Amino acid sequence: MDTSITINLLDNILGYLSQAATHIKEGETNDWKFAILHTVSAIELSLKLRLQDEHWSLIFSDIDQANIDKLKTGDFKSVTLKDSIERIKNILQDDLIDEVKNKLIELYDLRNKIQHYQISVNSNELLSKVAFGVNFVLDELRRVQDDADFEEVKSLYKAVLDKCDSFQEFVAARFALIKSEVEGETLIECPQCWNKTLIISGGEKPFCPYCMYSDTIEGLADQLNEKENIEICPECEVEACIYMITGAEDYMEWVCLSCGESGDYVRCERCNRLKNDDGESMCSDCTKDWIDDPHT
Ligand SMILES: [Zn+2]
Ligand SMILES: [Zn+2]
Ligand SMILES: [Zn+2]
Repeated sequence: MDTSITINLLDNILGYLSQAATHIKEGETNDWKFAILHTVSAIELSLKLRLQDEHWSLIFSDIDQANIDKLKTGDFKSVTLKDSIERIKNILQDDLIDEVKNKLIELYDLRNKIQHYQISVNSNELLSKVAFGVNFVLDELRRVQDDADFEEVKSLYKAVLDKCDSFQEFVAARFALIKSEVEGETLIECPQCWNKTLIISGGEKPFCPYCMYSDTIEGLADQLNEKENIEICPECEVEACIYMITGAEDYMEWVCLSCGESGDYVRCERCNRLKNDDGESMCSDCTKDWIDDPHT
């Protein structure tokens, strides 16, 4: 399908997100109302983006009226947030979890109340709701990360995060969202967002679900490694072991960016490669060579 429609949707989503984030940063009562309005608009569009990935006609309120010319001019009534959720379930067979669904509908209803009535709002309550909504959209955008224009998405994404990161509620909501993704993984501090949420696993590209940072193992090693060379890992034998701070009070140890193993490795006195600190001065290879020929 016409990629210009996707790009258009993306542009608008990021525009709303950025406006929402600006209001979050301001933090006055009226700003919260605007933050909700913009956040819900971004949610609506990101659900449409999902539907449009399947087929453009799905973003028409009445699919029977779907017409490519109307789509191009924007002259049509588009699907509501609630109907989008239904279509995602019934047509895409991609059900959102109930908790997420309910929160999205709650936000949608709240937006309508704010738009049409004079309501008093509790800013603490709004804060966590906006935080949820912005996080939801940011996560939706991660699905488009393979698109050609992703670099642009990525930098805008980063800009939104930067604006929101000083709000604890936002940060907490973000951590809650990525919890299942990082649980049980080997994590190190991300060089971009400084959270300990950079996933190191089995030779795949290191990736941070918090801020979407990713790099090759070599690229990441170059960024993190200052004091020592990149060494061959004694566990997986890939050249991806770096000496870095991993704990409180600047505690340092060797961490393999490929397999995720870490330890207080020492160097073999003969070949200088890293080895486990087992009390021997030589690594097992060198010990073997030395037994075979003690004169080498
Ligand atoms: Zn990060
Ligand atoms: Zn390794
Ligand atoms: Zn050795």
